Amino acid sequence: MPDDTVGADRAKDAVSEHSSGFPDALNRLCPICGSSDATDVFCDANIDAASLNSYAFASRKLPEYMHHRLILCPDCDLVYANPAPRIEALASAYEEAAYDSGEEAEFAARTYGAYTRKVAATLPDNCGAIDIGCGDGVFLEKLLDLGFDGVSGIEPSIAPILAAKPRIKPLIRQGLFSAAEFEPSSAILITCFQTIEHVYDPLQLCVDAHGLLKEGGALFLIGHNRDALSAKLLKTRSPIFDIEHLQLFSAASFRRLLTEAGYKSVRVFPIFNRYPLHYLVKLFPIPAANKIALLNGIKRLRAGYLPVTLALGNLGAVGYK
Ligand SMILES: [Zn+2]
Repeated sequence: MPDDTVGADRAKDAVSEHSSGFPDALNRLCPICGSSDATDVFCDANIDAASLNSYAFASRKLPEYMHHRLILCPDCDLVYANPAPRIEALASAYEEAAYDSGEEAEFAARTYGAYTRKVAATLPDNCGAIDIGCGDGVFLEKLLDLGFDGVSGIEPSIAPILAAKPRIKPLIRQGLFSAAEFEPSSAILITCFQTIEHVYDPLQLCVDAHGLLKEGGALFLIGHNRDALSAKLLKTRSPIFDIEHLQLFSAASFRRLLTEAGYKSVRVFPIFNRYPLHYLVKLFPIPAANKIALLNGIKRLRAGYLPVTLALGNLGAVGYK
């Protein structure tokens, strides 16, 4: 089957002999450094095709403890899915994904807004900002509040775009990120939060973003830290081991990603999140039936809505053009 997708030149064009819940999953080289050394199997696949419902591809949902077969790259420290579903399969899965995370998205956007304020202070101007994987556009509002103009967002799923506020919806383009849809050297800031794990070719995304940035502009990524204490304690029961995640970063591999893509002055740092208590309960590794009862219980009490600040195991990375 011909494959003209992004990054196909770096993927072995062979259907994998390893089990995968997706038809025609492809073997894949390391998506950062291109290493073909797949001898260090981080964990085998855990995919139950029958329970792959439409919520599996919505962000901030009940985790289902399913994940692809993961390889640890000996060269760049990335953990990546191999085999991985074809990009066409991902595009349609995300397009149709259900959506029910408005409140949590607002809490996350506040956290990201506080960090973005610091990044914005290092930029030469505030003209042109793109948020890749913008969901319902709640962070686009933060960018406007921070004084950016020429703000736009990209989101592959239709449901969150339909939920966007009327003044934000026209700023969102539906689809996978494609640099061809933007003017080269036109943005001063590109943000990509909790999305870089989901894309088929994270290096290509960073290279494309570099082409869209003006001199002195920045790419700001936030993702999960696979070296975080929570990930180490919970192992594959951690919510970061997720069917949606095609790669998992550490500080070293996040730095390598931006350096490899041509960014300068790269900084990697922990992110402290602020979330309501009931959201944290949702992420807890307990059986779904108990969890729903617990969630309903604490939501009835006001305590469920108390904001809690803690390091959930997220990393930020900023690089400059
Ligand atoms: Zn690698």
